[in-house]
Amino acid sequence: MQTEKQNLRLEGIYPQRQQEFFMQRVKLPAGIISAEQALKVAEVAEQYARGLVHLTTRGSIELHWLKEEDLVTVARQLATVGLINRGACGGAVRGVICGSLSSAAAPALEALVRKIHRHFSGNPRFEKLPKKFKIGVEADTASRRHLIQDIGLIPAPSSDGRARYDVWVAGGLGREPIPGFLLAEAVLEDSLLPLIETILRLYEANTPAGKRLKHLVRTTGQDEFRRRILEDPAAAVELPTVPSLTTSMVPAAVSDAHRLEVGIFAGELKAEGLAALAQIAKDHCGGVLMVTGDQNVVLHVAGDQDPSGAAGALRAAGFPGDQPKERVIFRVCPGNHECIMGLAPTRDIAEELVKQMGPKAQQLSWAISGCPNSCAQPQLSEAGIIASRMVNDPAGRTPRFDLFRRGEAPFSELVEQGLTQFALGEAIKALG
Ligand code: SF4
Repeated sequence: MQTEKQNLRLEGIYPQRQQEFFMQRVKLPAGIISAEQALKVAEVAEQYARGLVHLTTRGSIELHWLKEEDLVTVARQLATVGLINRGACGGAVRGVICGSLSSAAAPALEALVRKIHRHFSGNPRFEKLPKKFKIGVEADTASRRHLIQDIGLIPAPSSDGRARYDVWVAGGLGREPIPGFLLAEAVLEDSLLPLIETILRLYEANTPAGKRLKHLVRTTGQDEFRRRILEDPAAAVELPTVPSLTTSMVPAAVSDAHRLEVGIFAGELKAEGLAALAQIAKDHCGGVLMVTGDQNVVLHVAGDQDPSGAAGALRAAGFPGDQPKERVIFRVCPGNHECIMGLAPTRDIAEELVKQMGPKAQQLSWAISGCPNSCAQPQLSEAGIIASRMVNDPAGRTPRFDLFRRGEAPFSELVEQGLTQFALGEAIKALG
């Protein structure tokens, strides 16, 4: 096995903060995983990853604490159930997200996600990009997730019955958060792959290594970027539409009661918990689980079943759904528990903060990132926290936190800076 860093990254593998261990990211289109696949992931996690899985804010699953000598075995075992993780890390098209699988538009969105995933995953033309490339498909703009993608696709009205999408580009968070802008309206779905390819070619040819698409757009300007893309004849090619037998796996949620969201605090789930959810999905929910951008698991109870059966099975499996840790929406990145970049123990801090929250604070959506890279997307939450720097104080070297609140701007705005963990807790108590 080639163990050069870049090759490992393309396979979805990153070194962990604890240098003798690795993380394997499992790439799930739209966060969808079958019960059989989830059972295999649980089995692998039990054997090689300390019995834990981590659900990410892009609807992927990460296995931490892998030893180098187990990486090939883990990849092979995942491949036996079709989980190929090419491009889950590194300069490639990452897992395509979709946070709208409970909407009426879900089957069409899921089919589009799968089409994009199939086309770009493992395609050598697009595996040497300057940096990661993120694509998201959403039913509408409400979640603002389209603003943080390199390419965000939103269904557009169509007068000719053909599927069309608005194309948002060049968004991103990290140290320089920039909301995406509308590149083109009502693009035919049949032209999306050529358009995305054109954007990728321009990005690769004109962007220094380590920089995202937003860097290229900042350099060229939005108008010039748009001109270069839309005047390229390759971007307007219409591909033939070939109907598929299996466009979507996710059963429709026929009522709100048929949609069960299982709160997984900080996205940390025991392998046995994942196996239990997989079994419930098999028995009641069409054999499908969805990992959400809030690091939870959603199950759609099959239309011909009474949802109380699945709800009872969840309670019996240890997911009562009534604890603050399960109810509060709190996206949490791995922080310095496992991530090299992490400045703070995000999960521990999030757990403390939930205990300090009053009823009003519990109603808000929260996120905490262990460094300014912002993987937990705090700028998309009603209340977001970033561990921004380390400071030497009498207690030793301790992190400081910045607090963001949602306002009128596309991203939540900085309201308090440089808080100690104690001061952060006090600020949260003050929310009521
Ligand atoms: S935000 Fe920072 S600490 Fe958290 S996962 Fe991303 S890089 Fe790591």
